[in-house]
Amino acid sequence: MVENDMNEKQKLLSNLPSVDGILKSNQGMEWLKTYPRRYVLQAIREAIDLRRKQIREGHDADLAEESMIADIEKKIEKLSSYSLKPLINATGIVIHTNLGRSLLSERALENIKKVSGSYSNLEYDIEKGERGKRYSHIKRILREVVGTEDALVVNNNAAAVLLCLNTIAKGKEVIVSRGELVEIGGSFRMPDVMAASGAILREVGTTNKTHLYDYERAINDDTALILKVHKSNYRVIGFTEEVSIEDLVGLGRKYKVPVMFDLGSGCLIDLKQFGIHIEPSVQDVVKSGVEITTFSGDKLLGGPQGGVIVGNKEYIERIQKNPITRAMRIDKLTLAGFEATLMEYIHEEKVIENIPTLRMLLQKPEEIKARAKKIASQLSKHIKGVPLQVQTDSTRAGGGALPEVSLPTYVVSIKPNDISVDELEERLRKGNPPIIARIKEEALFIDAKTVRNSDVDDLVRGIKTAFRG
Ligand SMILES: *Cc1c(COP(=O)(O)O)cnc(C)c1O
Repeated sequence: MVENDMNEKQKLLSNLPSVDGILKSNQGMEWLKTYPRRYVLQAIREAIDLRRKQIREGHDADLAEESMIADIEKKIEKLSSYSLKPLINATGIVIHTNLGRSLLSERALENIKKVSGSYSNLEYDIEKGERGKRYSHIKRILREVVGTEDALVVNNNAAAVLLCLNTIAKGKEVIVSRGELVEIGGSFRMPDVMAASGAILREVGTTNKTHLYDYERAINDDTALILKVHKSNYRVIGFTEEVSIEDLVGLGRKYKVPVMFDLGSGCLIDLKQFGIHIEPSVQDVVKSGVEITTFSGDKLLGGPQGGVIVGNKEYIERIQKNPITRAMRIDKLTLAGFEATLMEYIHEEKVIENIPTLRMLLQKPEEIKARAKKIASQLSKHIKGVPLQVQTDSTRAGGGALPEVSLPTYVVSIKPNDISVDELEERLRKGNPPIIARIKEEALFIDAKTVRNSDVDDLVRGIKTAFRG
């Protein structure tokens, strides 16, 4: 009996194809045309090794040729796929920091492709025929869009803040309200950034209330800057008071201390027309006369990652000369994307249509509802018997922008009966492309707000596949 088993195993093992055999088969040759040899070899070896192990351990091994080929192909594809890849955002959060924040406009994408696939005048002055400055490309358009005297763009807003503090206030005091010592996701904490810049934090006021006289009393010979920080991702409500940027500018003028506003999101359109009254536009902040304003390129602005510094020429020039600026400079891809994104803002009549972040944030509820209905109706054909429902819900902008603004949305809620909601969520997350959804009320919520029209087919296919297991 035992001997028979041994013989049987030996027979199965010796019948396994060789790596070379598979490689030289028609199928093997096909793979080699498309995929790197190294991955083809690795996948074949792993498929054979798995079966050898199963035979030795007395488990059932699937030795059919088709299943072997399917296995190998799946492995090759997995090995050759990129780690950073597109996915479907069904969370409803438009500026989702974990999912890449802003999607770029068509125009920005085209410009990035055009400029980065070719030589360019990145640091070359075509008029003069001599060396130029990379920052020059973005100054004119920022002046036009924001109404500022001068501007600079660096790697991100965290870098922008660090640079400004280091340039203007190293070894000196910076006055900040206790109500504005924020922490932004990913370890940007104002007191830590201040320490890293070499500036000395001078906290004033209390968590809920800071008055103009708190700032005024803190001013001394060592004061280099008054800093206002946008609360971004949180709010203090109730018995509160903060000092407006206009009043701080007035105070700064009186004592000849520059004022800076870390605006965080950097909204370039007037949101009041959409009923959102709490987010000042960059243009309004610049009009207050503040010496320096900083904001992100990829939050409400809807462009590539970057940190924009706008303000007085005198300060911008000093910041530009800081050696640390060189370590935080942006590359040509970002510049190309930024200039094209800002050009969208010049075309005011079309800007909301053309910038995906704005378009998604401000789309009409009926539009979201129509998309949710379309998704639900397509799904109902494929996953019969699973309760599906289109329902209203609310979501947030994300990215530390507009935290108290609840945005109306529509979701398709799915209540699977054969598998758990957690299992469904996991299968979708691990699918191709991955679909990121949220669980609420023991159902899976597919939020149609952030699902692009071009995602719908992949989304439906992905959910169908997940239900098949
Ligand atoms: C988001 C934010 C930052 C950091 O900006 P990044 O572009 O993510 O580096 C800094 N300050 C405030 C107030 C913010 O909201």
